[in-house]
Amino acid sequence: MLKRILQAIYPATCILCGFPGAKDRDLCDACAGDIVENVSACQLCAIPLPEHADKQLCGQCLQKMPVYDSAWSPFIYSQPLEWIIQQIKFNSRLSYTRVLSDLMMSRLPVIEDKPDCIIAVPLHLRRLRQRGFNQSLEIIRPLAKYLDISVDNKSCIRKKYTLPHSGMDAKQRRKNIKNVFEFSNENAYQHIILFDDVVTTGSTVNELSRLIKRQGVKRIDVWSLSRAEKHYR
Ligand SMILES: [Zn+2]
Ligand SMILES: [Zn+2]
Repeated sequence: MLKRILQAIYPATCILCGFPGAKDRDLCDACAGDIVENVSACQLCAIPLPEHADKQLCGQCLQKMPVYDSAWSPFIYSQPLEWIIQQIKFNSRLSYTRVLSDLMMSRLPVIEDKPDCIIAVPLHLRRLRQRGFNQSLEIIRPLAKYLDISVDNKSCIRKKYTLPHSGMDAKQRRKNIKNVFEFSNENAYQHIILFDDVVTTGSTVNELSRLIKRQGVKRIDVWSLSRAEKHYR
């Protein structure tokens, strides 16, 4: 009831174009249509492949399989998604995470084996204090609730403060991410979903998966909102 009254007084406007009365609350249909879907992705790492590519795996996975077991990433990291994510990260627009949760929610895959928990890639305490929230955690929370899977934000911490990855090549990224995380499997998880808002080269989720599997976790599915188009090798 209160929600209806509030909606009548303050009709939802699209966060991208300001169009009032957006049906999807924060994003109008036209702007939602501009978000690029990851329709033809590598079956293992979810990197976008050319459309109608007949191969199922990308060149990198054919050479060396990732440590994690599967990946799902419904969108490609490009405009206007990039702008929304940057607003969340650099302008602390926490309310925009809801749009991203909704976008993922409408494309959820069928889950055959329910995982023990979802872990969002953690931020270093210093960055968490700067931003006030971990955007990945906020994006994944509504999905976890819907799927009835618990979110674990205790078992994994980011102990080393790292420089932002942008501008680094794959080798520098791998070096930058060494010994960054700590994971303790006190709950004896066997199967988890690891979530990151954007997967670029995949080095962060791959290194983290290595660490997590060393603690006895057997299966890791990597979920991300969006995947960058190139491996940046
Ligand atoms: Zn719009
Ligand atoms: Zn791949």
